[in-house]
Amino acid sequence: MTVSVVRFDGSLDSISRAIELCGGFGKLDRNDRVLIKPNITYSGWALIPPYGMVTTSKMLEGILRLLAEHGCKDVSIGEGTVAEGVGSNTRRGYKYTGIDRVARRYGAKLFDLNEGPFERRQLGEVKIGVSRIALDADFLINVPVLKTHPQVKVSLGFKNLKGCLDIPSRKRFHQKGLEHLICLLNQLLECDLTIIDGIYMLEGGADTLMGLAHRKDLMIASQDAFACDCVGATIMGFEPSQVGYLREYAELRNRPIDISAIQIVGEDIEPHKEKLDWISSAEEELLSFGVTGLSVSNPGYSVCSGCYSNLICALGIFAKASPNRDCGDTRICWGREQANAGTGQRTILYGNCAISKNRDDEHAVRIAGCPPTTMSTLLPLIRTLLSWPRMLRMLLLGGPQLLAVRLGLYSGNLPKWKRYRSPEFDRSHFRPSLWQRMSQVFAAWRK
Ligand code: SF4
Repeated sequence: MTVSVVRFDGSLDSISRAIELCGGFGKLDRNDRVLIKPNITYSGWALIPPYGMVTTSKMLEGILRLLAEHGCKDVSIGEGTVAEGVGSNTRRGYKYTGIDRVARRYGAKLFDLNEGPFERRQLGEVKIGVSRIALDADFLINVPVLKTHPQVKVSLGFKNLKGCLDIPSRKRFHQKGLEHLICLLNQLLECDLTIIDGIYMLEGGADTLMGLAHRKDLMIASQDAFACDCVGATIMGFEPSQVGYLREYAELRNRPIDISAIQIVGEDIEPHKEKLDWISSAEEELLSFGVTGLSVSNPGYSVCSGCYSNLICALGIFAKASPNRDCGDTRICWGREQANAGTGQRTILYGNCAISKNRDDEHAVRIAGCPPTTMSTLLPLIRTLLSWPRMLRMLLLGGPQLLAVRLGLYSGNLPKWKRYRSPEFDRSHFRPSLWQRMSQVFAAWRK
């Protein structure tokens, strides 16, 4: 099967080229019900930089334009972001990425897959709810981002399909074998075309709270989702066999996992290969604010995206508002980890899983929820880790800021996000600023 690797030169034509080179629309009938599945991960009230974390609206525009040229009339876009409980919301995600605007321009319908309907399906030993919209599509186009993941190393096409499940099923994936179930899911929902959006690339996390984005200007496309992910992983510096779900899929389908067995057209991938870090350290992030004595256990497989996003978000707000704080010897445990606190160590059990796993730990501080909301995370953190005077100071100074973030009036910038002011990060690949839109109108008028 052919995989195309094409440089993104800023034009929609280069996106068309990536699809055409791999024969991406070869099986497409103009009367097909087409569903495009982008990756919008998380779009909550804290608007974090989108680069390398979510699919660009530019990429969707290129795909929608080519579909329109093929005469396709029934085109939809469907995504389900991380659970509502963490302030994340798919409709907000469409706005945040600018996908709502391009969908309107090309007459594509927008669906929040979290709203259902879902069909019950058996995946190995596990019952799951799968979006009927995804199951009913005649032609499924998967548009993930080129990024690492703190649990499964890479988050590309295979992993992106998790957004087609109901929220309880996504949680079950983390409890019953994440890699195995991702592998099985890709046998249940087979994509007709995968296009990895590599305009940006993210390392050290699946989001820009923990990870760092770089400009990459690359697109990887194929009718073969497995081959496409293998090439994407290789470009990020991972042998496909190092990725558990790809290795298992190759064994199940009797496919070679050797990249030399894939026909790659377009760019030579050698000069594009990188060596990305996939593990991110919450302690290092905290240290960058001078916060010491606070450790966070490795998320393992058992922590869901809801707990992950919310704790990391709350820790970022806490560290920014209370820099240079020594938290003694405190450890945050989450997922299904056994706390095993050392002598004199204070434990915070984060989320219902950690609480039920460590029922006998009477002295631990408990932050309940599945997942706990950002606010219900932040307040116990402040109460536990700060003295009364510091707590009052933080509430007085940080409270209005937090309210402004909550109301969308202020982005709550982290210092490391300064890098995204550089011209290599172009906001117009998502939602153009008012100034960029006015310039576009002016340029069109001058023509
Ligand atoms: S408590 Fe957190 S890790 Fe456990 S199931 Fe709920 S969201 Fe997932």
